[in-house]
Amino acid sequence: MTSTLGDVNVEFLEAEAATDSARETLLKEVELKIDLGIEGVSFDPVDLRKFGIGTDYLEQQHVGMNKILDSDCLLPHGFYLPHGLFFPFRWDPRSQYRLKEESGKPVLFRSQERVGAVNFFERTPLVDYKLSTGHTFNQIATLFTEGSFSVCYSVECSLQDKGEDCLFCNINTTAGLKHREIFIKTPQQVGEAYVLARSAGFAGHLNLTGGFVPERREVEYYLDVADEIKERTGLDNIVGTAVIGAPLDLKVIDKYKEAGYSSVAIDIEIWDKNIFKAICPGKDKRNGGWEHWVDAIVYAAEVFGKGNVRSNIVGGLEPKDSTLEGIEFFASKGALCFASVWQPTVGSALEGHRTPETGWHFDLAQKIATIYKQYGFTTRDLFNTINRSGPIHDIFRIFAGENEGDRLPRWRFPQ
Ligand code: SF4
Repeated sequence: MTSTLGDVNVEFLEAEAATDSARETLLKEVELKIDLGIEGVSFDPVDLRKFGIGTDYLEQQHVGMNKILDSDCLLPHGFYLPHGLFFPFRWDPRSQYRLKEESGKPVLFRSQERVGAVNFFERTPLVDYKLSTGHTFNQIATLFTEGSFSVCYSVECSLQDKGEDCLFCNINTTAGLKHREIFIKTPQQVGEAYVLARSAGFAGHLNLTGGFVPERREVEYYLDVADEIKERTGLDNIVGTAVIGAPLDLKVIDKYKEAGYSSVAIDIEIWDKNIFKAICPGKDKRNGGWEHWVDAIVYAAEVFGKGNVRSNIVGGLEPKDSTLEGIEFFASKGALCFASVWQPTVGSALEGHRTPETGWHFDLAQKIATIYKQYGFTTRDLFNTINRSGPIHDIFRIFAGENEGDRLPRWRFPQ
């Protein structure tokens, strides 16, 4: 029954308080997710081997974010935290966070404190499926919990030849490691994988990315992939993001739209012009400099429309205000610019450096989610351009009230 306190509806206030406390709980879990990304997670291999990684649950394919690049047991792709947020696994054997086995189930601890039970991402037999070229599906593509998949067509970046790799990036030092065999995935392989993923409910979104290649080769490759997919499926348009460099001739961006891609991503990495020059020497020299990267993103937003263009800033390499200035600038032009949590990687020029504290990244993510809201972006816009849930997606959805009590349900692409 509803009781009242003067003209205040007490039941309403209680419901609001419950909602606030649920959201508070979920925001705490976002903070935990960021902290896990920075600190990584340790485990006892004896425990880990009991969990069915590689049989019941999906194994990690890209090892480049781990603190140790080689392990003698399969690592998990990731796990759901107690309130439903997904953490893409990152291994650091020195981390205070530890996965332990309790009655056959995985449980996360922070030092001696029990954080809670976690659930791994289920494995589908699709990942072992052999394509017509003899490669398995998971040598070509990576699946995500949102019903999307990603293809990294090349695990090398040509900037290495000139000594101009971005200082935070370890793509070239991790190429050739386990699950990172060096070969260019052909448009035919991508097309075949796309059709298979679609039949298994995983092609709600395609993310096509790779290292830096000379401009002409890049556009030809993406157009060939689009043709393959359209021919195999009969589709005219592909719900998917072409991750590209800023083309010198901006009109090239129109070709991706004409080819059928629904969105493009052009990652500027740093908003401060001078820091960009220092951290991304190749991007600065090869693509017309910082101004041209900015112009390319703005132009792409005009071609693809609001919510269909993404950029990214590596969060923590420049002052927070600078990053936020860039993000608000792009939002005003209709483009979403994310800020990933910089995790200094093994093999990158910045290996051994430290990222800002968890609270710094958490605050940045909340401010970015607020900017997106102010500029009228939707949850679908966020997933249009980054097809898996990062902390900014989570916060945006929590602010939008998409939680069910103290759980954030898994977001799925419509098939
Ligand atoms: S352009 Fe920079 S960030 Fe992209 S793959 Fe090459 S080195 Fe890495």
